Amino acid sequence: MSGLISLLVVMILVGGCVSLTPTEQRGADEVRAMADELARVYKVRRIAVLIGDNVEGVGGTYRHGLFTITTSMLTSRYRDEIVAHELAHYLLDHDRPLAGTLALDWQREQELRELDANAKSVEVLIRVRGLPEDEALRRVYDYLLAWNRLVVARRAVIPWGHRPPCEEIGELLGRFPQYRGWSAALECARRERGPDQVGKSGGGSDGASRANSLPG
Ligand SMILES: [Zn+2]
Repeated sequence: MSGLISLLVVMILVGGCVSLTPTEQRGADEVRAMADELARVYKVRRIAVLIGDNVEGVGGTYRHGLFTITTSMLTSRYRDEIVAHELAHYLLDHDRPLAGTLALDWQREQELRELDANAKSVEVLIRVRGLPEDEALRRVYDYLLAWNRLVVARRAVIPWGHRPPCEEIGELLGRFPQYRGWSAALECARRERGPDQVGKSGGGSDGASRANSLPG
């Protein structure tokens, strides 16, 4: 470890600081180590990691140069996938302002950022966690599918800037055609479609098309 300022872990909870359980603390240490390793591997500046439940209903965020993860995610089986996704936003410089001038433009631009972050998170799991590519893809898929099931069951909402998770899954798997042998049969994988249908699912991000494209 260098003598540089190490990652800052801040507990933010309504009502003040609380201590973590030993299991949560271990999770927090592992998240911090993963962010540290990312900085080393990608030769980027270390970023602060905020742990707390200040962002309701969202497992993690990357905003204003800060990566936040909720306490409950520290012990989630999808923790590394969430961390990889948020760190991918960091690597892709997704903190910069959206370029569009209309709210609809922002939504679409953010949707593309989320798709890029999903794909980049596969690379992060490979390079930072040492996973083989197919396993990394499968893990990001499993995470998105779990989110999709929550959305279908109305136990989670689709955060602003995201497409329905089933669409995000289809787009992600489409970027890894070398695994179609096993990925094509997965839930939410895109079906073969003619050229006239290409883009049909990608254009609509208004409320109506969003509702229609919800899986299930
Ligand atoms: Zn994201």
